[in-house]
Amino acid sequence: MSRILFTNVSVLDCTGADPFPGQVLVDGERIKAVVPAGKLVAASGVTVVDGRGGTLMPGLIESHSHLSFLDCPSSVEMGFVPPEEHMLLTARNARRLLDAGFTSCMSAASAKPRLDIALRNAIDAGELPGPRTLAASPEMTVSAGLGDVRLWHMYRENFAVVLNGEQEFRRFAREMVREGVDTLKINISGDAGTPASPSGRTVMTEAEVEAVCDVARAHELRVACHARNSESVQMALRHGVEIIYHANFIDDATCAMLEAQADRVFVAPTLGATYTTLYEAGEWGMSTEVGERRGLGEELRQGIESMKALHRRGVRVLPGGDYGFAWNRNGTNARDIAHFVSLLEFTPMQAILAATKLGGEIMLRGHELGQIKPGYLADLLLVEGDPLQDVGILTDRKRFRAIMKNGEMQTCQDRVSYS
Ligand SMILES: [Zn+2]
Repeated sequence: MSRILFTNVSVLDCTGADPFPGQVLVDGERIKAVVPAGKLVAASGVTVVDGRGGTLMPGLIESHSHLSFLDCPSSVEMGFVPPEEHMLLTARNARRLLDAGFTSCMSAASAKPRLDIALRNAIDAGELPGPRTLAASPEMTVSAGLGDVRLWHMYRENFAVVLNGEQEFRRFAREMVREGVDTLKINISGDAGTPASPSGRTVMTEAEVEAVCDVARAHELRVACHARNSESVQMALRHGVEIIYHANFIDDATCAMLEAQADRVFVAPTLGATYTTLYEAGEWGMSTEVGERRGLGEELRQGIESMKALHRRGVRVLPGGDYGFAWNRNGTNARDIAHFVSLLEFTPMQAILAATKLGGEIMLRGHELGQIKPGYLADLLLVEGDPLQDVGILTDRKRFRAIMKNGEMQTCQDRVSYS
């Protein structure tokens, strides 16, 4: 078992306390001791890492990852990729996120049924580098819903499995449980990119949502949902969905319902994708003007207001921005933390806590993940500079002097530029 002592660091422990000059001792896969600078650490046989005044903080946690999304401009392109190549590219993306400082990922859908599962298992077994991952099913959607990209005369697919009726949802959910998912993902509302089912429509039925939640309860798993409008969020809450994605267009009554379940639910707005689709996708034919016409401006503006309201009410709002598209690539995920500061008016500390402490909670490991405390898993980032002064430095991989996962130093191999 290796013992590593970080010295000369500013410890941002993500308990909520201010950073302090200190030392952190890692023994095996866990943090053994956190002590102020100058205090002697009884540690023989340790490897000392001089942090040179950098910040030592927990590894970042992505709450809406799509490691199997291939950074394509159009989701249907993923459907053309055979499973074998798709698995290799998913493993590449896992490496990219780890290199970008993400040591944990809560998947928000796998583009093919077993990609997340196989990836998670290989990472957990130490066979591949990557963040610790909770595996999701593909997006379970209805005909004409988000992700149904079939044409009448031609079968096509992307990241979704099209199901109709309580029986089909129940059967597929059970099959995914058999294969080993951690989370079942359902698309309750429509989306701006789906003309037949825009964001304001609730397209799944009560019985379909209940069928999936029922399967999850029986197997002690969680359900995550795509839900843009009030009705779909309320339907999710009625049936016990734990993870609500988006929630842009929600009214006061829905905010109050979320507040009433604040210790049970997580909300991740995925502002990153909306932001880049609106402002940075011109090269792919989506000018801001086109984006506004498609409702993305409203999606962003109302999403911001909804998240501010939920944050004020004490609901856990987490970064994670649907990275995995051409203009919103896997590896640039830390931009969401900056969005929380610039768009949602989180303080840098609040935004960083949402990506670490709350991240540990959404991973179901708040007792051992996402903070620097004795006994916690040693997932650590040594960053040059102070992210509390500028959270933007977390998007700059050149600032990472060390990335540790499970007590092991990770060597960055992927030097692709993500600027
Ligand atoms: Zn997503």
